[in-house]
Amino acid sequence: MRLILLGPPGAGKGTQAQRLVDAYGIVQLSTGDMLRAAVAAGTVIGQQAKAVMEAGDLVSDDILVAMISERVNEDDCGRGFILDGFPRTLAQAEALEGMLAEKSLSLDAVIEMKVDDGLLIGRITGRYTCANCGVGYHDENLPPKVAGICDNCGRTDFTRRSDDNVAAVTTRLRAYHEQTAPLLPFYREKGSLKSVDGMADIDEVTRQIQSVLKMG
Ligand code: AMP
Repeated sequence: MRLILLGPPGAGKGTQAQRLVDAYGIVQLSTGDMLRAAVAAGTVIGQQAKAVMEAGDLVSDDILVAMISERVNEDDCGRGFILDGFPRTLAQAEALEGMLAEKSLSLDAVIEMKVDDGLLIGRITGRYTCANCGVGYHDENLPPKVAGICDNCGRTDFTRRSDDNVAAVTTRLRAYHEQTAPLLPFYREKGSLKSVDGMADIDEVTRQIQSVLKMG
């Protein structure tokens, strides 16, 4: 199965992608995670991307397209993948079409997670993850059962993304509306776009995604 999760920052793409990984045994390809790993490792790409990401702008199409085309050739993508955070521009979507056509592959669905802008800033600025196991929390919506202790691994170190602040989120939302939202009509015209209510609770969103996938 090959899917794209499309939606604004904070829509819950990463959370749902993780659940789809467990349900379908396919891999999650998060370009944000790949870029953060490159920044942390200090690679050339990481050095080029760091300031752009911190400001909330989009990293260049060339970098992203090269990164994804290399990644989808790896063995673990054979059973399928979920693209989380890619494509984010029409140029990336067109490059993806070319990449898939070259391998005679197609997309099963593009899933739009719809969330009102008003909800997103609070969702993003309140979120943090366990520094050890990566489980996600939120200051108000999803605190650990015991304050300061990870429910999953019991550790006490947490981390916040450096771009999860109001200024960067505002820029990220603008980038979404200006550069990524045009992908909605692009995929709608191809008949592959399915929409789910990203404002429903997490389990309900998962149910909606699974049901649109079953309907094909
Ligand atoms: P994310 O984790 O998906 O919110 O991505 C974090 C940041 O990485 C974004 O704000 C961009 O700066 C960069 N980024 C991730 N994916 C892409 C992409 N497909 N195109 C351009 N920039 C990206």
